[in-house]
Amino acid sequence: MAASLWEAAMAFKCPVAEQRFVLDHVVRIGELTNDLDIVDAVLEGAAALAEGEYAPLDRIGDTIGARFVDGRVVMPVGYRQAYAAFVEGGWLTLSAPPEAGGQGLPLALSAALMEDLQAANSGFAMLPVLSLGAVEAIDKHGDDALKRDYLPKIVSGEWPATMNLTEPQAGSDVGALKTKAEPNGDGSWRISGTKIFITYGEHDLTDNIIHLVLARTPGAPEGTRGISLFLVPKILPDGSANDLRCVSIEHKMGIHASPTCVMSYGEERGATGWLVGPENGGMRAMFTMMNNARLNVGLQGVGIAERATQRAVAFALERKQGQRNRLPVPISEHPDVRRMLLRMRALTNGARSLVYYAFSQADRGAGSDQAAAMRADILTPMAKAWGTDVGCEVASLGIQVHGGMGFIEETGAAQHLRDARIAPIYEGTNGIQAADLVGRKLALDGGLAFDGLIADIRAESHDPRLVALADSVEVVAATYRQAPPDDRLAGSYPFLTMCSVLVAGWLLERQAKVPGDSELHAAKRAAADYFLSAVVPEALGLAAGAECGAAMLYAVPAEALA
Ligand SMILES: Cc1cc2nc3c(=O)[nH]c(=O)nc-3n(C[C@H](O)[C@H](O)[C@H](O)COP(=O)(O)OP(=O)(O)OC[C@H]3O[C@@H](n4cnc5c(N)ncnc54)[C@H](O)[C@@H]3O)c2cc1C
Repeated sequence: MAASLWEAAMAFKCPVAEQRFVLDHVVRIGELTNDLDIVDAVLEGAAALAEGEYAPLDRIGDTIGARFVDGRVVMPVGYRQAYAAFVEGGWLTLSAPPEAGGQGLPLALSAALMEDLQAANSGFAMLPVLSLGAVEAIDKHGDDALKRDYLPKIVSGEWPATMNLTEPQAGSDVGALKTKAEPNGDGSWRISGTKIFITYGEHDLTDNIIHLVLARTPGAPEGTRGISLFLVPKILPDGSANDLRCVSIEHKMGIHASPTCVMSYGEERGATGWLVGPENGGMRAMFTMMNNARLNVGLQGVGIAERATQRAVAFALERKQGQRNRLPVPISEHPDVRRMLLRMRALTNGARSLVYYAFSQADRGAGSDQAAAMRADILTPMAKAWGTDVGCEVASLGIQVHGGMGFIEETGAAQHLRDARIAPIYEGTNGIQAADLVGRKLALDGGLAFDGLIADIRAESHDPRLVALADSVEVVAATYRQAPPDDRLAGSYPFLTMCSVLVAGWLLERQAKVPGDSELHAAKRAAADYFLSAVVPEALGLAAGAECGAAMLYAVPAEALA
């Protein structure tokens, strides 16, 4: 590839001005913090960290990745220093509670940092994602001793955390897990069992790793009602090694810098752990962690989409095919390529708006605003599922813009799709998110919480395309409220997409109305226009699938579909 094309493809700039715009007009950050200077300082500092420390390691993370050598997980060269820079900068402390050494800033602001890290180096960015969730779970559910002994070190980033749900027979069906916990009689427990697919379960970046592990205590009820959450450190308080080890790591399609570990607990005497929250109350505590992680996985979609869009635009401006007035034209001038670039920008901006909005509702809900807390609950499955679907679609379009070079690893476009593809799967598959939306979230507060969201959209936007989509969402929601569960579930995925596009369209339209004549304003208006003109009507077309009902899906046995 020509040097200029290569350089154009490699350049990556965090979208600081766009993030500030979204924070001002979607999040309304001024209502969440009095200190607006700190907002700019965080955005600029986060961009410097992502561009300067994380992005340069993205390639080596993909090509060499985490390796399993003699029972140890070895991270590529440079990762230890980059993680040290993250810790020294106090980046994990941004939104953590002040009593645990955090800065207590809005989650919606730390979302900008996490988006930047995801864009710069998606595999590496998963390490702090899990710690952020663990901080919230321990802060809300842990006892004073756990908070005292572990929170400050997790908050600082010195001891990163992991999340251990999955076992070979227990994936989406978490209630099927078998890992055991038995009391030691001194307040601690002996944990034994095997967990699979544990992100950053082992690595050489830090001296200790704090595992949050779901397990069953003796006589616990079947299913999710009998699950408890335990904190199980790699290194015990007396400095000795706990009885746990990484057995192997997976060979994966993408995020090669993120070690995905098989973890074995208690092969000898039982791994020592302590309860987080009450016995059999593990799912509640884990959900605190997972809700945070779900929004952050939505940001993984946004970050990868942003990076893929920037890369595709840079490539399309340089690559010339065809002639106009006898001069070679950059492919960015061909209408179909322009369509792809504008679609990438529109989807990326829409997903960012939706996910940041969800974070802002979680911020408000963390205070005393119950309505905001419920709205955050409703938005979480949308942010996770649609945010990650956008990540995949945009990364795939990015490859298409590159033509044959997109399929060649050298440009980096292919890595984005490989990295993005996991996000619809982990933290609860997108199918599980859709089931959550129609199964639980639609009925929150007797349905008033969902209806309130639609009412707010209607009160602000009179754009006929959005009004038509809001009408359609309400018709489907009304049908679902009368329908048997299987009919709801059969249409849940297209329904989730309809709702997500509606919320994103509403927020994009709001931003498009902000007066201003800068290049950013113009680009945002063009992207919003495309979203309202092309993406919103597509979502309207999903109503048929949302209402197709289960009978059609079960017309023949699954074997007949082979
Ligand atoms: C790279 C990677 C990292 C991961 N990191 C972690 C981690 O750190 N900690 C952790 O605990 N786990 C982790 N996981 C596990 C991940 O969360 C699970 O893979 C995921 O929850 C899906 O479970 P499963 O793979 O068993 O798929 P299954 O549950 O077998 O699902 C297969 C398919 O069936 C669908 N399905 C299953 N049940 C239902 C249902 N009730 N309704 C509708 N559809 C359904 C799913 O949507 C999916 O399409 C990771 C996985 C990977 C690949």
